[in-house]
Formats: sequence, C-alpha cells, structure tokens
Amino acid sequence: MDTVLSVYNSLNGKKELFKSIIPNNVGMYVCGPTVYSNVHLGNCRTFMSFDLIYRYLQHLGYKVRYVRNITDAGHLENDADEGEDRIAKKARLESIEPMEVVQRYTLDFRDTMAKFNSLPPSIEPTATGHIVEQIELIKSILEKGYAYEINGSVYFDVIKFNKDIPYGKLSGRNIEDLIHNTRSLDGQSDKKNPQDFALWKKAEKVHIMRWPSPWSEGFPGWHLECTAMSSKYLGSQFDIHGGGMDLKFPHHECEIAQAESLNKKAPVNYWIHANMLTLNGKKMAKSTGNNILPNEMFTGENNIFKKSFAPMVIRFFMLQAHYRSIVDLSESALVASEKGFQRLLDGISKLDNLEHSETTSGFDVEGWKNKCYAAMNDDFNSPLLIANLFDAVKYINSIAICTQQISKLDLTKLSDLMHIFFFQILGLKTLKSNDGHNNNNRLNGTLDLLLEIRNKARLSKDFVTSDLIRNSLLNMNVQINDTSEGTTFKLN
Ligand SMILES: [Zn+2]
Repeated sequence: MDTVLSVYNSLNGKKELFKSIIPNNVGMYVCGPTVYSNVHLGNCRTFMSFDLIYRYLQHLGYKVRYVRNITDAGHLENDADEGEDRIAKKARLESIEPMEVVQRYTLDFRDTMAKFNSLPPSIEPTATGHIVEQIELIKSILEKGYAYEINGSVYFDVIKFNKDIPYGKLSGRNIEDLIHNTRSLDGQSDKKNPQDFALWKKAEKVHIMRWPSPWSEGFPGWHLECTAMSSKYLGSQFDIHGGGMDLKFPHHECEIAQAESLNKKAPVNYWIHANMLTLNGKKMAKSTGNNILPNEMFTGENNIFKKSFAPMVIRFFMLQAHYRSIVDLSESALVASEKGFQRLLDGISKLDNLEHSETTSGFDVEGWKNKCYAAMNDDFNSPLLIANLFDAVKYINSIAICTQQISKLDLTKLSDLMHIFFFQILGLKTLKSNDGHNNNNRLNGTLDLLLEIRNKARLSKDFVTSDLIRNSLLNMNVQINDTSEGTTFKLN
C-alpha cells in the first residue's frame, strides 16, 4: 500500500514512515484496563487515542486486528510484585467474588467507551482466560535460562538477560542506573535482584485468585499476560503496541524482555504511548480529591465542574490535543470545546442545504483535503485536522450567506470529506442521535421548515404564529436567533 503515514516511535523517539509487516494488514495490541474500579478518565483518553489510530488505519485501507486485553488477575497494588491483587482486594472489601468485581467493571468500561463512541477491539482477551498460555511461556523462558524458580515462585532474571540482550531500550534506563536507584530487598522477597520481576507468584493462603502450575498454586505476574496474549493473537513480531505513557516502565520494558528472551528479536516495530490527562493543572488522583469519573462529567453530578458535558464534547476536547501532549481538563477549556464542537456540527448540517453555483469555487477544496490528510499522516495530528475542519466551516458559513461560492463538484466533495473526517475518522457523533448524521439531518430539516413558516408569518405580521413557534421550540431547548444574516437555531 502506498502510504505516507509517519508514526512517532517511542522506542527511538523518532517519527518513522509506517510500514506494516504484512502488506495491507496491521496487528495492534493495546494494554487494556485493570477492571477493579470504574474506568479512569485518563484511561479513557488513552483508549480514545488508540480508537483514533484504529479508525484512521482502517480508513487508509488496512485490515487491522486490534487486540486490547482486560486485566482481571495478577495486577498487584504496586509494581514491585508486592501487595494484594487489585481485584482480589476489591472483592474482599465488598465481600463479593473477584469475578463479580471483574464483571461489574468490565461492563462499566465497555459502556463508558461506547458512550465515547470508541469502537470495540477485534479481540478483547482476559488474563484469566489465558493462564495456560502464560504457564507455557514461563516454561519456555525457564528453558532458555532467563528465569529462576524459588519457593514456588518464578522470576525473570533481568541481570542475566541484560548480559545477552540490553535491557531498558524503551524507557531509556540502563541497568546500572536501575541497580543504583532500586531500593534493596528487605529480606521478604525471594528475588535474587530487586530488578527481577515475577512471572509466577506462589499464592499465600489468603490469596483467593489462584491456579495450579508446575511450581505452585499461584497466579501469573502482570507483565506476562500481555506477552502471552499479544503473541497468541498477533504473532511473535507485530506492528503496533500501545498504551498509556505510565506503562512504558516497567510494564512494557518487561514485555520486551520476556519476548526477546524467547525469540531474540524485537516483538514490536512501533511503540506508541498516549500522554496523560490532568485536571485543573494537577495530576488526577483519588487520594487528593482532584479526580472525576466519566459518568460524573456526563451527569454533572460532581464538585469540580458547574455543568455537565456530553461524551462527544469530551471526546472532541481530547482530540483537540495531540495524543502525545498532556491535556488539562478545565471548565473553560471544556466550554470552549463545546462551542467549537457545536460550530462544526452546525457547519456540517448546513452542507445539505447549500446551493452550488455555476462558477468556480472560492476555496481550494483539493488543497484543503490534502492538508487534512497531511495532518493525520503526521503521527495522527487530530488538532491540526480539526483546525482544518474549522477553516472549511468558515467557508461553508460564507456560502450559506452568499458571500462565497462553490461549484457542484466541490460541494459534493467537501460534503463527503467533512463527513468522513468528522464522523468516521474522529469518531464524533451528533449530540442527540445514535446513528451518525442521518437523524440530525432529519431534525435539521424539520427545524428549517419551522423557521421558514415562522419567517413567512413574520413577513405577513402574524406575530402570534411566529411567537408560538419560537416559544414552543424554546420549551424544547431549541433557541432561535434572528440575526442580520438570517435566522439560526441552537440546541441548548
Ligand atoms: Zn500490558
């Protein structure tokens, strides 16, 4: 496929021309959520970033196999293989089964992502569904000599691995620094070195999530599931691996080590990391109260913002920043995005009723199209694409008030492209409907008809009818504005 898509590769910090291993096919793995609580808004941002990437790759004609896992076991409270399993802890606190915790928060996650109009992945495998595969991987790593068993637990030997293959490529950490900066073992751990990480942990008596294995009744280490599931569904070498920036180390570094210990080759060609979301300039954290759940934003039931925000406005807000930039959530920024989103929707809704002229267009539609694609081909630059969509809307508005012209051919082209970029690629939807722009078109058509009747009434000084239409619409939260350029309406 001829494509000029360039992708920023976290592995070397450079933008590289994207070339898939198998022509026209892309294998993409994204680390999914650990389902022990309601999905975090920062996580939603990560998954929306990869939804944009998924949508754009498909738009370019790639057949994408998008694998995003559900972590339902093995993710302990801290990254040093210590603490309780996050899901087991929640189950203990609420006196329910771990799988009830998993079910509840998996449903919440899927429901929230659907509200954000994120497409489901092609495969959504779970850690507990792949215990056999994980045990087989551990056996292979042990056979290669890069892991050791102590007291029923198995650890990856980072120091030994680093002697053969450099460890720390992705995060840019070298082993000496790691040794220097990691606190020494407190005597409680079985690990030979603090840098080593668990592949299998023997379950203590209180640990309720446990499976039999050749070493002990226990559970797999968190990093292992992603290697097991990515290699099972995408092969030992695949195109894109993504996740949040915070997963670079140690999670993704450990994934690389596990895969390379087996195959002596890099498992992933392009590592993509989405940046984090802050709230009012500060890191989001439950402990400080600087935290908000997606649903609290949709309903407006929270102490942070004065008003509610629709999922599509939040999605639009997120896409107005590049996925590699930090985004700060604030009331003023969200309100600005809400207005911008409505302006784009209004512009798109006008397209169907625009009249073309017989003369040439006053806007270079082909050049504009190239700029839109250039933005997306430059490492999925959605803010630049959106800026171009605003340019087009400015032009559409000028045509609507007859200060600009458009040819028949360009009108069709512009209309098609606006729909492709807005609905298909950015994955945005109208605020009130669930099925793209069709319902909205119908609603707009009905409203236009009402406005026309009202205008006729006003011209014939039938103010009873014109006020009836205005006031009835206002009761339905549709606000009519009479301006020098004509009458417009706004959905409040
Ligand atoms: Zn992962």
